[in-house]
Amino acid sequence: MSTLKRAKRTAFVDTSLCVACGCCKRVCPMNAISINKGIFALVNPEKCVGCGKCAKECPASVITIKENNYEN
Ligand code: SF4
Ligand code: SF4
Repeated sequence: MSTLKRAKRTAFVDTSLCVACGCCKRVCPMNAISINKGIFALVNPEKCVGCGKCAKECPASVITIKENNYEN
């Protein structure tokens, strides 16, 4: 295989269950989360490094960290 792939972990929010409390946004070291129109949290995948801090902090447990494969 000549195609190189690198794994990247990214946070995903179940927006239907998010209560827009902002806890995830406060703890994110990459400033990757915004609260979209005060309704749900939105993760910027370009900034997210998959550290998982937001998922630990979320009181509603609606954030999961998933592995992605991007082709270089
Ligand atoms: S996984 Fe880490 S970098 Fe990504 S949104 Fe959550 S706190 Fe921010
Ligand atoms: S901590 Fe959880 S419930 Fe609160 S805004 Fe973030 S994703 Fe939504």
